[in-house]
Amino acid sequence: MYCVQCGNHSLKILPSGEYLCEYCGTRYDTEESREKLLNKPTEAELIDLFYRAAKYEIAHDYMGELKLLVEYKERCWDDVRYLLKLGRAYRTVGFKKEAIECYERAREYTPEDAIISHNLAVIYLSSQEPQKAVSLYEDAIRKMEAHREQYSNDDYAGALANYGGCLIALGNNHLGEDYLKRGEMLGYKNGVALRKMCSEMFKQLKLA
Ligand SMILES: [Zn+2]
Repeated sequence: MYCVQCGNHSLKILPSGEYLCEYCGTRYDTEESREKLLNKPTEAELIDLFYRAAKYEIAHDYMGELKLLVEYKERCWDDVRYLLKLGRAYRTVGFKKEAIECYERAREYTPEDAIISHNLAVIYLSSQEPQKAVSLYEDAIRKMEAHREQYSNDDYAGALANYGGCLIALGNNHLGEDYLKRGEMLGYKNGVALRKMCSEMFKQLKLA
């Protein structure tokens, strides 16, 4: 970070949250001047970035998409829309740790969003960490039930079924089946594979 007036790199943060360039005396005391200082992208730049990323995605060039998005990491690290896109891009190419970092950060900004909890839970479950996924699914289901109109039926059915899967992976078959069946009754289609994956996970985790 440097003063956009003089290029000096040592900026002082004042107790008020303002920045002061000790070299030329410029104060960054408005939202706009701070964004300029922090080199945040404009709305137009962001839209252009997402458009270019989508082109890679459509071409199934997921590594290309990731490389493009990563270039903006420093400048966009507090934009939820960006974090969700970067998280999905990491997840698509199998970088789970990095994907988790993005979703965790996005969750700090929008703690009420059930889909972020759901996305995080999916990664933990697929990384054989059902104990971490289980409370996130509980969180997602609770939020979806509190605001059913905001979430699609598929999302809700998926959260119920996967929560059931988590419980099965943790050895609670009876309750797990209840949730899985509730999800299936609402249209969840992947129950057979999910049951198989989660019972195998239970066996493996028990051996570990
Ligand atoms: Zn300066």
